[in-house]
This record gives sequence, structure tokens and C-alpha cells, in this order.
Amino acid sequence: MSVGQANAIGNRSQDADAYDVVIVGAGFAGMYMLHRLRGLGLSARVFEQGSGVGGTWYWNRYPGARCDVESMQYSYSFSEELQQEWEWSERYAPQPEILRYANHVADRFDLRSDIQFNTRVERAVFDERARDWSVTVSDGKTVRAQFVVLATGCLSNARTPDFKGLSDFTGEVYHTGHWPHQPVDFTGKRVAVIGTGSSGIQSIPIIADQASQLTVFQRTPNFSVPARNAPLSPEERDFFRANYTEIRRKAREEMRNGIYQELPEKGALEESAADRNARYGARWDKGGLTFTATYNNIALDKAANDTAADFVRAKIAEIVKDSEVAKLLQPNDHPIGSKRICVDTDYYATYNRAHVELVDVRANPIEEILPHGLKAGGKTYDFDVLVLATGFDAMTGSVARIDISGRSGQTLNEKWEAGPRTYLGLMSEGFPNLFVITGPGSPSVLSNMIVSIEQHVEWITDCLDYMRANGLDCMEATRAAEDNWVDHVNDVAHGTLYPQANSWYMGANVPGKPRIFMPYIGGVGVYRQICNDVAAKGYEGFTMSAAAPTRRVAASS
Ligand code: FAD
Ligand code: NAP
Repeated sequence: MSVGQANAIGNRSQDADAYDVVIVGAGFAGMYMLHRLRGLGLSARVFEQGSGVGGTWYWNRYPGARCDVESMQYSYSFSEELQQEWEWSERYAPQPEILRYANHVADRFDLRSDIQFNTRVERAVFDERARDWSVTVSDGKTVRAQFVVLATGCLSNARTPDFKGLSDFTGEVYHTGHWPHQPVDFTGKRVAVIGTGSSGIQSIPIIADQASQLTVFQRTPNFSVPARNAPLSPEERDFFRANYTEIRRKAREEMRNGIYQELPEKGALEESAADRNARYGARWDKGGLTFTATYNNIALDKAANDTAADFVRAKIAEIVKDSEVAKLLQPNDHPIGSKRICVDTDYYATYNRAHVELVDVRANPIEEILPHGLKAGGKTYDFDVLVLATGFDAMTGSVARIDISGRSGQTLNEKWEAGPRTYLGLMSEGFPNLFVITGPGSPSVLSNMIVSIEQHVEWITDCLDYMRANGLDCMEATRAAEDNWVDHVNDVAHGTLYPQANSWYMGANVPGKPRIFMPYIGGVGVYRQICNDVAAKGYEGFTMSAAAPTRRVAASS
């Protein structure tokens, strides 16, 4: 057997501690990746630090957690049987139901036998001679894998700010992104919530229902639109089930964000103020994320954007009875939609309740956490329970926590010191055979994530199949292709209003993190076409090679 044959894709399964592919993470990305690799007949091992599948929906069990992309669309499309048989209960399913769905998928496709739970991947080192990776996990074991797929999630590394005195707090402390498995009972308790992003905005109304006193510490207000969540009627479910083929195709190919919806035909300034208000009013009444798609230029033109932002600010003033509180809740520092818009149930109205107080910690910064409360702007606030809805080190945080060492010993953290660099969000030059699912430089968090996950998983599967069929075993992005892609991602972002916000898309929520607009904003349809074209041109922009030097193939960049 030649070196090339020994190294061929598909040969690893003969050794107990060697796999064709190691997958890191058992959320929707890792689970589907495993399923597809099995379909290719490859050996794969998934390592998941949690004790169950579901990723985001395993960790984020806070009250009120639910999706903000409608469930009939925020679900896998790869199996017709699955999408026909699963019964979503509400327009936006609550977290326990999404977690049940993830578990159902794991059982239905018999995934668990190849997933090792309660195991963190700590380290991955590329061996240039063997052309594979050694992967060290938290139980101390090291396995070898020809390919590594990081399915580690964009919003999986919960961030606790470095509050002075936090460890001295004597009450209960919870992070929304790391919520206990048993429900937390706030009945009769004085509760504080720090953070008013999507997690805070979803949980605050429900915590307010139980708590005897709720104090919300807000640094920056966010735009939020009503969810108008409701049980799904059989007719609504039937409509999707009967039309899934076309709905899913449109979501994948024609929509910017992977959500099947009515496309706006006009710009906001093409209509009279009265017509505009009527149109915004209709979208507001319908509810949901597509509010910012009322017109086709809200993300592009500041004057157009102002009309949508003014509409929401007026709604806040209408709902919140105390005008000072309403003013504090009105965002003025960023264009609407340039930070992830929130989708809520009764969020603004919660501030009309007598036992709910809003504290502006922009004007009065949190100085320290005290044993029984906190001090902000010189004033002391007492409470029994502290809820941190303070977000994530997004997009790169979970990757950065793994010590990844590529060619010539360079680490991925060194390479990404000034911001993540990838080709298509899928691979980074210098790190052969290492894929990222929904990585920085791909549409990921700007889309219906399950659409983006399926696209990446299927592209990677096809790519491995192609390599195997052509006797190739090693693949890497070229520097030129990566540089061009990074420039393109930046150029497209800077043609929009998005970089004007201090958002987690920009890394702005983590002190010291480089300010780079990380996701690709060109749209999922456009991006899919680019990825398909790259594959059709023999994986243009990647080098692919076989172990035997004579078999080297270099695709053009
Ligand atoms: P994740 O679900 O984050 O899974 C990654 C897994 O990798 C985790 O289980 C983690 O434990 C594991 N992991 C990470 N590092 C390691 C390691 N070193 N070793 C072992 N395991 C590791 N997106 C939408 O499109 N629509 C929505 O409505 C929506 N709602 C959301 C609500 C919340 C509260 C949050 C936080 C995010 C939401 N998102 C939504 C984004 C959501 O993250 C994605 O939709 C999707 O669930 C991501 O799946 P994933 O498998 O890529 O990552
Ligand atoms: P987030 O949007 O980053 O919000 C974090 C909040 O904490 C912000 O209000 C932030 O204020 C505040 N904060 C952070 N550090 C602070 C400090 N030191 N002092 C005071 N306040 C501080 O995080 P998230 O709410 O968890 O949401 C993250 C993303 O997850 C969302 O954008 C969305 O994509 C996804 N998500 C979706 C849903 C859903 O509806 N399906 C629900 C939850 C999450 P600043 O803005 O001033 O930094």
C-alpha cells in the first residue's frame, strides 16, 4: 500500500482512536454533520462539552427563551419525513420544545452512539508529516483525525463581565447562556437583571410576573418588535407542509437571510409619511423580525432607516406610560437593525408595572457588586437574585478557547489576533483539513441559522466526497483567496449601515476584541451561489493534494 493509499479518506476507522473526522459540538450543526458523514461511510466522532445535544437550546434555558425565526422555518429541511412529522406548537417554539426536537433528531437518526458527551475539545494540533490532526479532549485522551469540523456555535461562549465584587454576592447568580437544568423560581424574590439584548428582553417580562421586585440595569437600549406569538393553527402547519419544497428553496436561494417572506419592492422614502406609517403599522401588527424588511433600503440608507427607527421609538413612547422611562428605552445610538433586532412579548409594557424599575447604567455605571446587591452611580440597589443577560463572546469565542495549532506551529489565535480571517467562512489558510461551520466570513448569524448550517454541512460533505473520489487527502485555503474574501466581506459590510453600531457582530461587546464586521452580509442566496461556483471550478481558491508528492493538485485561486 502506498503512503497515498494509507492516507486515503475513509481509512481511519481501522484504528480505535483514529477517525476520518472529529466534530466539535453537538448542536444543530454537529448533529447534521455527523449524519451526513455517516452517509458517506466515514468514521466520525463528536465531542460535546454538555451532557446532551441541542447546543444553544441545551444551554439557554432561561424563562422566555424561544426562537425568533418562526419554527416552521427554524427547523431542519434535509429530511422530508422529519419536517412533515414534527408538530411545532407555536409560531415561535419555546426552548424546551426546540430541545425536544433536537433530541428527537438525535434518536431518529441514531446519532448518540457517535457522540461523546461531557467532553471538551481542548487542543488540536496539525501533524504536517502524517497530514492529520491530533485532538486532545478534557478526559486527557488524544485521538487522531484526518479532518476536524468546528461546529462550536457562534453564540456558545457566554460572557460574564469582569464586575468587581461579583464573587462576594451572597444570593443566587445565573447567566442566561448557562442556565440551570431545573427551573429557577423567582416567586417573592427581589431580582436584578443586567443586560437588555434579546436574552434580557425575552426573560424580563416573565421574571417580572414572578418576582416581588425587578430592577433592570440597562446600558444600551435595543430596538424590539412584538413577536405576536400564538399557537400554530392546523391550517398554518398544513400550508408549510404542503409547500415546503418551494418555501425551503426560496429561503435558501432567493432570500438574503434564509427566511421565506414577502420581499419589499420599494425604498422607505418612495412613499408618503402616512403610507409609510401604515405599512410599518401592518408589519408591527404582524410581528417578528421581518419588520426591518418593510422596505428594501432600511439597512442601506440612513434617512430610510430613520423612518423605521422613529416608528419604533414612537411605539415605545405610546406603550410606556412614564415618559422618562420611555425615553430611556428609546435607542438613539445605532440604526435600527444594525444590531440584532429583538423580538418580544410585552417587553416595553413590563415597565408600566409598579414593581419594575429601569436603571440607566450608561449614565450611572455599575461600580461594584455588593454581597446583597450592587452599587451604580453612587446608589445602592438590594436584591436576592442576579441574572446576567450579558451575552456572548460571539462568532470566535468558542473557537478561541480551543488551542488550535496549524502548519509550522502557528496557532489560530495568533493568526486571528487582529480579527478572524477565513475563505468563505469555511477554512483559514495555514490550517489544513480544518472546517468551521457558520464561521466568521459566512452569513451565519445574519440568517436563519439552520439554513446556513445545512448549506455548510452539505458543502463540506460534497467536498470530502470529491476528495475521496480523486484520491486527495489534504485541503487548505490559499492566502490569495482568503485575502480577497476578507476584503470582500469588509467591502460589502461597509456598504451598509451595520458597521455604525457597537454590536457583537463587530466584536464591540468584548473589551479588547478587534473591531471587524465578522459575518458576511451579502445574503445567503448570493453566498450559496459563490460556494457552489467555487466547488464547480474544482474548489477554486483551495489547494488539494494527496500524500504522494507526485499526486499534487493545485486548484487556481
Ligand atoms: P450551538 O448550538 O451553539 O452548538 C455548539 C455546541 O458546541 C455547544 O453545545 C457547545 O457546548 C459545543 N462546544 C463548543 N466548544 C466546544 C469544545 N471545545 N468542546 C466540546 N464542545 C464544544 N438562530 C436563528 O437562526 N434563529 C433563532 O431564532 C435563534 N435564536 C437563538 C436564541 C438564543 C437564546 C441564542 C443564544 C441563539 C439563537 N440563535 C438563533 C442562534 C443559534 O445559536 C443557532 O440558531 C443554532 O442553534 C446554532 O447551532 P450550532 O450547532 O451551530 O451551535
Ligand atoms: P447581547 O445582545 O450581547 O446583550 C447583552 C446585554 O448585556 C446588552 O444589553 C449589553 O449592553 C449588556 N451588558 C454587557 N456587559 C455589560 C456590562 N458590563 N454592564 C452593563 N451591561 C452590560 O446578548 P444576548 O441578549 O444574549 O443576545 C445575543 C444574541 O443571541 C442575540 O443578538 C441573538 O442573535 C441571539 N439570541 C436570540 C434570541 C431570540 O430571540 N431567539 C434570544 C436570545 C439571544 P451593551 O449593549 O451596552 O453592551
